[in-house]
Amino acid sequence: MIAEVVSQKELQKMDPVFGQVSFDNHEQIVFCHDKDTGLKAIIGIHNTVLGPALGGTRMWNYTNEWEALNDVLRLSRGMTFKSAVAGLNLGGGKAVIIGDAKTQKTPELMRKFGEFVHSLSGKYITAEDVGMKTEDMDTVHDVTPYVTGISESRGGSGNPSPVTAYGVYMGMKAAAKFKYGSDSLRGKKVLVQGIGHVGETLVDFLVKEGAEVIIADINQERLNEVSAQYGVKIYAGNDLYTAEVDIYAPCALGATINDSSVYKITADIIAGAANNQLADENVHGKILQERGILYAPDFLINAGGIINVYAEIEKYDKAEALRRTENIYNTSLEIFDYAVKNKLTTHQAALLVAQNRINERKKEMAK
Ligand code: NAD
Repeated sequence: MIAEVVSQKELQKMDPVFGQVSFDNHEQIVFCHDKDTGLKAIIGIHNTVLGPALGGTRMWNYTNEWEALNDVLRLSRGMTFKSAVAGLNLGGGKAVIIGDAKTQKTPELMRKFGEFVHSLSGKYITAEDVGMKTEDMDTVHDVTPYVTGISESRGGSGNPSPVTAYGVYMGMKAAAKFKYGSDSLRGKKVLVQGIGHVGETLVDFLVKEGAEVIIADINQERLNEVSAQYGVKIYAGNDLYTAEVDIYAPCALGATINDSSVYKITADIIAGAANNQLADENVHGKILQERGILYAPDFLINAGGIINVYAEIEKYDKAEALRRTENIYNTSLEIFDYAVKNKLTTHQAALLVAQNRINERKKEMAK
């Protein structure tokens, strides 16, 4: 969350909305409240040049409203670039509901939230994020068509995680091609941090290709299960950032590449699913570049999930979603090349490619 970077006191000193640290020319920010259900939500619409702003709803027990606002500002901006670089005709948006998803989420609250989404007439389309389940999206779908990630029985695209994992695998192979001259991961030592929905499927792809996989997670039960099922080792050291591996795949939390870890990492490549891996995208992206570590930008290679839900809007099937996700391989290679040619970090290069696409569309629209 943003509080990792800026203290609560600092946040409160800034102007309430447009002066916030994560405000980046967002088009619209909608504050939603309903006394009867206890709903307090914020919908952030960052940019709609390429299409409707699509992004998930996160329900989280934020410390205060500043934290919730900054989270939605930061996350909605991220969606703009993720969809743009993936070549989708979607803008960037996100929503946050303030509260504990385990104790405060009710069907009435979700329906009310759906009514607010509906009031935006499709400018914002919601989906699942942390604290949400497919059944919650089904409840939202009762009151608005502007929702994706609904059950397959209702015409939805189902669980996006395997498609996300496939995209990460494609991005990792492209990084190997760029770094080693071959995209084969056979014999490569890969550390997968976080073996949840995405991480486990990634392990499956890697093992099938003959990579030497090491897993890490805070959940010992999951570690034992995944280790037994795929025959992979569990990381046994004290500090996984010092692990001698070829590839580090962050698939748990964001901001794992930070002041404390960035100089310890010895891997040649970083390629994983977690959102916002760089604690500070300018500082840590640059250090990785200087240290010769190839960083596959998170929002570039974890776009399989959004490509999968986009199928619900564009009415394409699973095979087409996979084909588009496979293309992350080509896009990644183009971006690595572009970064070298223009002396940019890979993260900056991906952002620029996304921004150029938005600018081009804006120009066409102005004609
Ligand atoms: P998940 O909740 O299923 O799995 C996360 C795993 O990380 C869990 O097993 C958890 O125990 C582990 N974990 C948590 N903290 C950890 C720590 N400090 N060290 C090691 N392990 C830790 O989540 P997921 O759906 O697999 O997503 C993984 C990451 O990818 C998240 O950052 C998510 O935002 C991002 N992402 C997911 C998708 C998707 O389609 N699911 C799409 C884009 C991005």
